[in-house]
Amino acid sequence: MAAAIIVHGGAWDIPTELHADHLSGCRAAAEAGWELLMRGGTATDAVEAAVRIMEDLPVFDAGRGSHLNADGVVELDAGMMDGKTLMAGAVASVKRVANPISLARHVLQESPHVFLVGEGAERFAQAAGVPLCDPESLIVPRERELWNRRRAEAEPQPPAALFHSEPADTVGAVALDADGNLAVGNSTGGTFYKHPGRVGDTPIIGCGLYADNALGAAACTGWGEQIMKTVLAKTTADHIALLGSARDAAHVAIAYFEHRIGGLGGVICISPSGQIGFAHSTPYLAHAYRSDDMTEVVASLTAD
Ligand code: ASP
Repeated sequence: MAAAIIVHGGAWDIPTELHADHLSGCRAAAEAGWELLMRGGTATDAVEAAVRIMEDLPVFDAGRGSHLNADGVVELDAGMMDGKTLMAGAVASVKRVANPISLARHVLQESPHVFLVGEGAERFAQAAGVPLCDPESLIVPRERELWNRRRAEAEPQPPAALFHSEPADTVGAVALDADGNLAVGNSTGGTFYKHPGRVGDTPIIGCGLYADNALGAAACTGWGEQIMKTVLAKTTADHIALLGSARDAAHVAIAYFEHRIGGLGGVICISPSGQIGFAHSTPYLAHAYRSDDMTEVVASLTAD
């Protein structure tokens, strides 16, 4: 069976000076996931390993280095789905977990529930043996400075203007293993200066992520409120099955997203046979991928 992996590191107008860090971060994540797949790891193993690498890199809006909310606090969301069983796990608004993708995996594997939030999710983390961290350790100086500047602004900008100008470096991964099983995972600090308690598409099954061995698997990034309204990950997976092409499905889903709602974002996906697809309506989509017919990971910022 053909193995494949694709990761994303956000979709927005990534400034030139940040291109190298986005490319190297995505490449490192895809390489780590690919090596696990080659050693017989499962798709869920590969997705977790790839996402953890990006959560640990401060350049991305996930784990340490995430955006602060309007209160000046980091609140993290993550989700994971297994395409073989349709088991899913997600957490939102956690403040003391450095690698929420691993907590989402514990929810997937050990909880009768799919989605845990806030303090209850952190209590579950403690019971599952996931370490809790000091919330301050998730904040990097760059984000504190951005937050200080925004707080000093007299007039808040409208959300669309914010999404165009603010970093949106959510991370995610989709993988297919040698047994033909698909998995997907996403992790984010959410949008910059979000209302406390705000949750976007990233951890929401069907919106930010979806995996079904019978259809395909997809992970989204971009303006979460728009992605939720168009159920973009499931829409992409359905189109993989309908069109028989991951590439066409990604492009059709993003065309619908853009034309129906002026959507700003991107999607990565893999078909059950291991075809890779990606598309975006933003200037850039940081991503990296490898499949059986390739000799090395390719990292890029555009779908062209
Ligand atoms: N989709 C994320 C959110 O709305 C942001 C991103 O993808 O960067 O929380």
